[in-house]
Amino acid sequence: MNYAPNSAAARDIANVLHPYTNLRKHEEKGPLIITKGQGVHVWDDQGNRYIEGMAGLWCASLGWNEEELIEAAVKQMRELPYYHGFTHKSSMPSIDLAEKLKSIAPADFSKVFFVNSGSEANDTQVKLVRYYNNAVGRPEKKKIIGRIKGYHGVTVAAASLTGIPLNHKSFDLPIEGVRHTDCPHHYRYAEPGESEEEFSTRLAKNLEELIIKEGPETVAAFIAEPVMGAGGVIVPPEGYFEKIQAVLTKYDVWMIADEVITGFMRTGNMWGSQTFGIRPNTLSCAKQLSSAYLPIAAVMVDDPIYQAIADESKSIGAFGHGYTYSGHPVSAAVALRTLQLYEERNTLAHVQAIYPAFQKRLKALADHPLVGEARGVGLVGAVELVADKPSKREFAATDGVAAQCVEFAQAHGVILRAIGAGAVTICPPLMIEEGQIHEIFDALEKALDDTDGWVNKKGLR
Ligand code: PMP
Repeated sequence: MNYAPNSAAARDIANVLHPYTNLRKHEEKGPLIITKGQGVHVWDDQGNRYIEGMAGLWCASLGWNEEELIEAAVKQMRELPYYHGFTHKSSMPSIDLAEKLKSIAPADFSKVFFVNSGSEANDTQVKLVRYYNNAVGRPEKKKIIGRIKGYHGVTVAAASLTGIPLNHKSFDLPIEGVRHTDCPHHYRYAEPGESEEEFSTRLAKNLEELIIKEGPETVAAFIAEPVMGAGGVIVPPEGYFEKIQAVLTKYDVWMIADEVITGFMRTGNMWGSQTFGIRPNTLSCAKQLSSAYLPIAAVMVDDPIYQAIADESKSIGAFGHGYTYSGHPVSAAVALRTLQLYEERNTLAHVQAIYPAFQKRLKALADHPLVGEARGVGLVGAVELVADKPSKREFAATDGVAAQCVEFAQAHGVILRAIGAGAVTICPPLMIEEGQIHEIFDALEKALDDTDGWVNKKGLR
C-alpha cells in the first residue's frame, strides 16, 4: 500500500520496529493505529470501532477507561512517582501490594518479588532455581522442564522455557539446561481411542521417563501455564495436573505455575492453579495484575525457597538480582487498586455468571465446517480451523487461514488473534457484558463463514 508521506502509517513504517510482526509484510500492510478506548471498545484512527476480543494481549481486564486506575496512578505520581527496593529501601505501594497478593494467592507463599513483565518474572524463576539449588548444596540440580507449545516470554531464559519454534529459531535458543516435554493437547496428540485420562497418564509417564533419563538429581523444576495461552489456548485434559504433580513430588522437582494469563479470574476462579488443582512452589503473575494499565508482574515463592535464598544472600553479601523498576510505586499503586476493584465490584461473581454463555457460544462453533475443535475455560477460548474435519488435517502455515479469519472478524468489528496455522483465540476483558459476548460470537460466526468461502475460492482444502 502507498501511504501519504507524512501519514501516521508511513511514519510508523519508517520508524517503528514492531514486536511479533512479519516485518516485510508490515512494510506493505502498515499498522492498525488504535487511538482511543472505552469499556470493551477501541477505535482506530479512521474512526472504526472494535470490541477488543483479546483484552489487548490477554490483559486489559477492566477495559479501556477505568477512571479509578487513572486516579490511583495520578495520586501516586504526585506523592512519590518513583522509588526502589534495593539495599533495604521500600515504598508503601509495594508493601501493600505484596501483602494483598499473598492474601489471595493459591498457595502459602512467603515473599513476593516484583518485576515489570511476565518474561522478567520467568527469567527470575530461572535464576531462583539456580540460586536456591546452589544454596542448598546441590549445584547439579538445575534443569528446568517446559512443554512443547508452552509460552513463558521472550527474554533469553524465558524464551528458552517457551516451547514454540518461532521464539527459538534464529535466536540460537534454547539455552543449556532446559528440556521440553509433551504438549497436553488431547485433540491433536492423543492416540486414536485414547481417553483424556489415559492421555494424561501417558504424558505423566513420559515426563517421568524424561526425568529418569536426565537423572533426577539434575532436574530442578517444571514450568507450566494452567492453560496454555500463546500456544493456542490448550486446556489440560482430565487428570493431567494431578498426575504431573505426583511425578514432580516423587523426584523433588518444583512446580512453577506461570499464571501470567490465567491469574486473576480468567479461568473462572481467582487462579488457574485452583481450577486445575496445581500446587505451585513458585508462581509468576502479570497482565491482569494491573489490568495492563502499567507494566508490573510478580513472582511469589514459598517459605523453604525463601529461607534458602535468604541464607545464600547473607553468605554472598546480597541477593544480586533486581530491576530499577522492581515494585515501581506507580505501577504497584495501580495494581493494588486493580485488586481492590476486583473485590469491590465482585468481578469473580461477574465472571462466573457470564462465562457459561461464553463457553456455550464457543462450543457451538464446533459444528462449523471449518472448526475441528472449539476449546476453552472461563473467559478464554479458541477455535481450531482445519482443512478436513474427520482427519483433523491442518492448513499449511503459509496459507494464513487463521490470520484471514481474524481479518474478517476485524471487518465485522471484533479484534481477535490468530495463533499458528489454525487457531483463533478469544479472551475478552473480564468486565464484558453478556450481550457483548454475543456480539463477539456473532462476528466470529460471520468471519468463519467468510473464511470458509475464501478457503474454497482459493482451493485450500
Ligand atoms: N507467560 C505467559 C503465560 C504469557 O502469556 C506471557 C505473555 N503473553 C508471558 C509469560 C510473557 O509476558 P510479557 O510479554 O509480559 O513478558
